[in-house]
Amino acid sequence: MRVADRGLDFIVWEWDPVEGATAYQGDVGYPRGTFVPPEKEPPPVWLEEPIFRLDGLSPGASVYLFVRAARETAGRVELGPWSESSGYVWTETEPLPMPACEDMRGIAEGLRMKVVLGWDTTPIRVWVEPAFPDFVREQVAVFAAKLENHLGYPVLDATVTDDISTADIQVVYKKGVRSAAASNGMTPPAVLMNPSKPHDEIGVSFIEHEASHLFGMGHNTCRGDVQPDWVPMSMRLSCGDWAPNGEHLLGVVPSDLDTIGCIFPEEGP
Ligand SMILES: [Zn+2]
Repeated sequence: MRVADRGLDFIVWEWDPVEGATAYQGDVGYPRGTFVPPEKEPPPVWLEEPIFRLDGLSPGASVYLFVRAARETAGRVELGPWSESSGYVWTETEPLPMPACEDMRGIAEGLRMKVVLGWDTTPIRVWVEPAFPDFVREQVAVFAAKLENHLGYPVLDATVTDDISTADIQVVYKKGVRSAAASNGMTPPAVLMNPSKPHDEIGVSFIEHEASHLFGMGHNTCRGDVQPDWVPMSMRLSCGDWAPNGEHLLGVVPSDLDTIGCIFPEEGP
């Protein structure tokens, strides 16, 4: 079996004809971690020719295909075995197109991201609700250090401010929020979170995920709620909870640090 063609939202597989086959069945599967509910997986489809086209995928979606041959004789259908596990093909559609660095800031401005619009090269200040455990403040410091080490200039102030009136981002409690969620509509823009779970249950570095939303960065194609018109997060920053390697992290990778540097360039807006 081989991939005959693929695009942003489709894949075409083909395979060598099986002698005596009068039809084929194709069965599409999704790897764990791609956030596709089992009930959305379609039943096997009948195919007249040894070619299968799957449409309606998201950019970067990862799927696999099993096939089997069928022979119809005198009103009976004989089905061959499904292709061996070694014979299935993991295939990805084209990834989300990455905007050029110089366009990323414009995308974030177009989304009316207040943190981006209000930035003047002064490192972004964060205020954290005083009752929150220290690991929340530590995450801000870790994120700030990752940015400065990678970019060579500070984007985020490593020390949280005590004065909310000087803050560019607030980190506040939100009932019902499982771990965290961002709101650009509050003043200052907020990372809404419920830190009542132990640190390692929430997932480390979720501040990095939520603050990145406030920078205009959106979920990548590993999630059902992909935000294709935002500046793409890496898969890891988007989907730490569902990472195929089982890591429970929502942190930045170097490509995300590059992206943030494009949104907040050293020379200013
Ligand atoms: Zn998110």
